Amino acid sequence: MRLFLFQVVLCFLSVFGVFCSPSKKRSDCLEDQGSSTPSFSLGTIVYLLILLSTGIDVVAQSKYGLKATTYDEYVQSVKVNPDKELINLEKFVPGLVLDIRYATADNFTGEKIYNLSRAYARKPVAIALKKIQADLNSQGLGIKIFDGYRPYKATVKFYEVYRDTTYVASPYRGSRHNRGCALDLTVIDLKTGQELRMPTGFDSFKKEAWPSTPVSDPEVRKNRTLLINAMEKHGFKVNSSEWWHYDFIGWQKFEVLDIDYEELEKK
Ligand SMILES: [Zn+2]
Repeated sequence: MRLFLFQVVLCFLSVFGVFCSPSKKRSDCLEDQGSSTPSFSLGTIVYLLILLSTGIDVVAQSKYGLKATTYDEYVQSVKVNPDKELINLEKFVPGLVLDIRYATADNFTGEKIYNLSRAYARKPVAIALKKIQADLNSQGLGIKIFDGYRPYKATVKFYEVYRDTTYVASPYRGSRHNRGCALDLTVIDLKTGQELRMPTGFDSFKKEAWPSTPVSDPEVRKNRTLLINAMEKHGFKVNSSEWWHYDFIGWQKFEVLDIDYEELEKK
């Protein structure tokens, strides 16, 4: 951003340079604006355009130095590798229940972050989730999703609200949610629709949320183990400080995206 401001200042100086010959005083300049038009050289215009375009590029990049993939770049990447497609999980996985907390104010930021209540993930992640749902359904259970693919701008917001990277992703690297390769979820009883009892609620910042923290209640312990095993059987790994967060193994092959759900759906 500092570089951008510097470039803006340069642009202004250049504009004045266009109207003012260096040998004239500032006061002369203002009076002479009309007659100084001929000094508007092609080189000056090109110089201004270059400055402006590089300034815009700096703004497009995150202030944390990460350039997230845009919608057009994403479309190109899917043409090259169809696995990169973001899949609407609600449509793809039968009976999937959504409780997208960031589409409400009921989350740790206290603000509504998404305009739409959606869960998306890259194609191999969606296929794995479908298998997990089938496994759980055979036991009278199902999945409830709290969050899937998350636009990069939301990760920046989370970090600026809560700067502890034990619980929120660093905006310098982005989140695995930004890559469409992480899911926040829990298990529900299909008969009642109720969530199985777990050590904490979603997005708890307590140590009880860590999968390694011992649990004294045998039912809660069993539920947590059931979820972790169901996910790990199909290629996910539980996060070390959140029992509800699962990374898809191989997430490194997928870029950080900054595409809103509205943008994904309008085209
Ligand atoms: Zn998560």
